[in-house]
Amino acid sequence: MNEHRIPLAGVIGSPIAHSRSPRLHKHWLRVYGLPGDYVPLHVEPEDLVEVIRSLPKMGFVGVNITIPHKVAVLELADLVTDRATLIGAANTLIFRKDGKIHADNTDGYGFIANLKQNAPGWNPAAGPAAVLGAGGAARAVIASLIEVGVPEILLSNRTRPKSDALKSEFGQRVRVVDWVQAGNMMEEAATVVNTTSLGMVGAAEFRVPLDGLRPGTVVSDLVYAPLKTRLLVEAEAAGCVAVDGLGMLLHQAVPAFERWFGIRPEVTQATRDAVIG
Ligand code: NAP
Repeated sequence: MNEHRIPLAGVIGSPIAHSRSPRLHKHWLRVYGLPGDYVPLHVEPEDLVEVIRSLPKMGFVGVNITIPHKVAVLELADLVTDRATLIGAANTLIFRKDGKIHADNTDGYGFIANLKQNAPGWNPAAGPAAVLGAGGAARAVIASLIEVGVPEILLSNRTRPKSDALKSEFGQRVRVVDWVQAGNMMEEAATVVNTTSLGMVGAAEFRVPLDGLRPGTVVSDLVYAPLKTRLLVEAEAAGCVAVDGLGMLLHQAVPAFERWFGIRPEVTQATRDAVIG
């Protein structure tokens, strides 16, 4: 690659106009005074391979990958990290100087880093974690909870076969709970995580009963629009520690920014403000 080019990064998805990632990376580039830019790239599945193969020739050092391409990009990567293999999807590509494409998944890292920053007393080993949902985000959350030592994961999803499939992949530490019983998980849980899209602007409401929540439980919602979901409002009212999903979005971007632009950025209140706009 031509060393005099300004390094470029971006996010590939369809649709992509709603993405907050450009604001985030542009903010960090500005704060750290680095040359570079970050752009949203709307790419359809049939064009994905051709687009990705041509990006390094234009000065791209890497891209984030979002819906619907997170699984497909594993096929065209030359190297896939262990965590991306375990999760079965990638959200970050690094275009190496030797021409190789490196695929990683930083969602689980971002999820845990967000909990550590915003629930500093969180002890993963304190008890079971209740996870709602069994989609792509749930895979990253479950893999990372197991890695940090959560003793058991109670998993509930509207479509039961999907939670059964995750149990067979992630093993004995996962216990599947019927969706109609999801509210019962709250009493046992030391950590509660919503990985469904319920409660998100434009999606169905979050209606899982929450009266079993105990004070001190750490409750995290991956949904970040709105920032204060019904789950988080009720969790706070019950004396729980509520952690919103924006922090995960910010933290998952840290390792990617570092690999692309050479500085490990910090997630601060100013970062949040820049992204909320
Ligand atoms: P996904 O793979 O499409 O999974 C969606 C999940 O939501 C599935 O478990 C699905 O259940 C459930 N769901 C959807 N509508 C439902 C309904 N009406 N009733 C019950 N369950 C319902 O999506 P994803 O990639 O995992 O993302 C899930 C959410 O996490 C999205 O809101 C996304 O924005 C958010 N997210 C946030 C971050 C962050 O950084 N904060 C990162 C990744 C994702 P079924 O299996 O029954 O369909």
